[in-house]
Order: sequence, then C-alpha cells, then structure tokens
Amino acid sequence: MITGQRIYHGNELAGTLYTGREISYTYELIKRLLTILIVLGILFLGVAVLLSYFMSKRAMIPIRQSFQRQKEFVADASHELRTPLSILNSSLDVFEMEDGEHLSDFSKTVLVNMKDEVKRMAKMVSDLLTLARSETDRPALTVERFDLVPTIEQLVSSTGPLAQSKNISLHHHMPSILIVYGDHERIKQLLYILVDNAIKYTPPGGEVHLTVSVEAREKQTMILIKVRDTGVGIAPEDAERIFDRFYRVEKNRSRKMGGTGLGLAIAKWIVEIHQGNIHVSSVPGQGSTFTVALPISTSKSAAI
Ligand code: ADP
Repeated sequence: MITGQRIYHGNELAGTLYTGREISYTYELIKRLLTILIVLGILFLGVAVLLSYFMSKRAMIPIRQSFQRQKEFVADASHELRTPLSILNSSLDVFEMEDGEHLSDFSKTVLVNMKDEVKRMAKMVSDLLTLARSETDRPALTVERFDLVPTIEQLVSSTGPLAQSKNISLHHHMPSILIVYGDHERIKQLLYILVDNAIKYTPPGGEVHLTVSVEAREKQTMILIKVRDTGVGIAPEDAERIFDRFYRVEKNRSRKMGGTGLGLAIAKWIVEIHQGNIHVSSVPGQGSTFTVALPISTSKSAAI
C-alpha cells in the first residue's frame, strides 16, 4: 500500500515523498478467507437443501399415505358400486319385461328415466374405477402385438348406428394392415372415446372422419390417429381444460348426451401410458380435430 505527498520549498516543488507498507500478508489472508467463506457457503447451502429435502419427504409421508388411502377408497367404492348397479339395471329390465305393458304412461317415462340414470351412473362408476386404477403406482398394462384394422372396423360398426340415428356420416381411412404394440383394450377404449365424443358433439347432418396412419419420424415410427368432426367445436380457453376430470364445456348438453366429463381424462391417461401425446385443434361452430400420436410402431424395438 503506497501513498505519495508532494513537498514544496516555498513555492517550488522540492520533490514527492512516498511512504509504503507491506500488506501482502493481509491481502493473501483476505483472499483465503474469501475462498473459505465461498466454500463454506456452498457447503451449508448443500446441507440446507439436503436437510429440507429429507424433512419435506418426512412431512409428506402422512399426506402421501392419506392420498393413497383416498385413491384406494375411490377404487374400492367404485368396484363395490358396480355389482348393485348392474343388479339394478337387470332388475329394471325384468320389471319392464314383466309389467311393462300394464304401466301407465307416467310410470313408463319414470322407468325409462331410471334406466338412463342407472346406465349413466354405471358408466361414471366404471370411468372412475379406470381413473382410480390409473393412479396406482403400477397401472395394469397388457402390451401385445395386434392388428389395429379389425379393431377400427369393429368400432365403426358399433358406433355406426349411433351416427346413423343422428344422421351423421361416419368415415374411416386407414391402411389395409396396421400392426401395433400396445394395450389392445386401452387403445380400443381411446378410439371409442374420441369417436363417441365426435358423434355426440356434432349436430345432425354432420360428418365424422377417423383417419389412422403410420408416420416415420426421426427416431420412431408413430401411429397417427385423427378424429375430425364438423361439430360444435371448442373455444380456445376450454381446449386447455377439456382433458381435466369432470370438465365439461356445457354441463347440460354433456349430461343429455350421457357424458360424465371423464372420457377425455381417460383418453389422455391412455395416451400418456403409451408415451404418446394428444392435442385438439378446433374452430367453434365449425368442428374439432383430435390428434393422437403413439410411438407404437410395426417394429418390436420401438414398442413401449
Ligand atoms: P363428456 O363425457 O362430457 O363427453 P369428455 O371428457 O369426453 O366428457 O369431454 C369433455 C368435454 O369436452 C365435453 O363435455 C365437451 O364439452 C368437450 N368435447 C369433447 N369432445 C368434443 C368434440 N369432439 N367436439 C366438441 N366438444 C367436445
């Protein structure tokens, strides 16, 4: 450390006086202290992060346990509800067959309403069970090799009458053979949810197109499923939420169509367990297109 002072003799500059002090030791000391402080800081930060991680994990145990119990409860309750509901359904059928003709018009309407409600409840219970099971740590998946073409043909013939009853033309486009690896039942369920929704939310006289194709991408071969309709469409602010459980754009319309608000949540789950993605593009009043990309190719190496 050096300081300098000019020295004058009268008005004349006689010279400059410099004084200096050796501070290398202090400088070195400060540098080392700084290094030690930085190292200690990082060390304590690491310890604090680790400690808070373990503490939060411990604090999460009771929350996780109660969450798990709740999930098990929903699964068990749904499972238990299925039997009485199917008994109720078949009892109503028997009742209708035995005494249907002697009932008054009012009683007949009540009976039809009861049957509809029981059917709706049975569907909701079955959807809830699927979702509750989807949240268990290891959802049951049966991966197999199968041809998607007969599945699509079967789907089109089973949803055809529904489309016809609404005067909707249902078209399907696909290759002659589509070997895929995946959970057959789940993929069938996914296709059914999308086609059923397209028919439900398309007014009479409309069109529904189901297109399935194979697309070779950089790393994987993908199965592309597109379900396009000329229906009511979905507003952009709703498009983000329709995959949420129980979310329905118009509760009344969905209810009338027998909807539960769980279909697309199940569809999204099925797509995700197959490591695929699903998205919707829509113009309100003109129609919607749901696109699913599944990495279930024709080669076993790309299987899930
Ligand atoms: P829901 O049982 O009510 O049909 P979903 O989960 O299948 O339940 O769908 C959620 C909501 O998304 C529906 O209530 C409907 O408002 C909207 N939606 C789904 N598919 C379509 C479609 N193809 N066109 C227009 N709206 C749709």
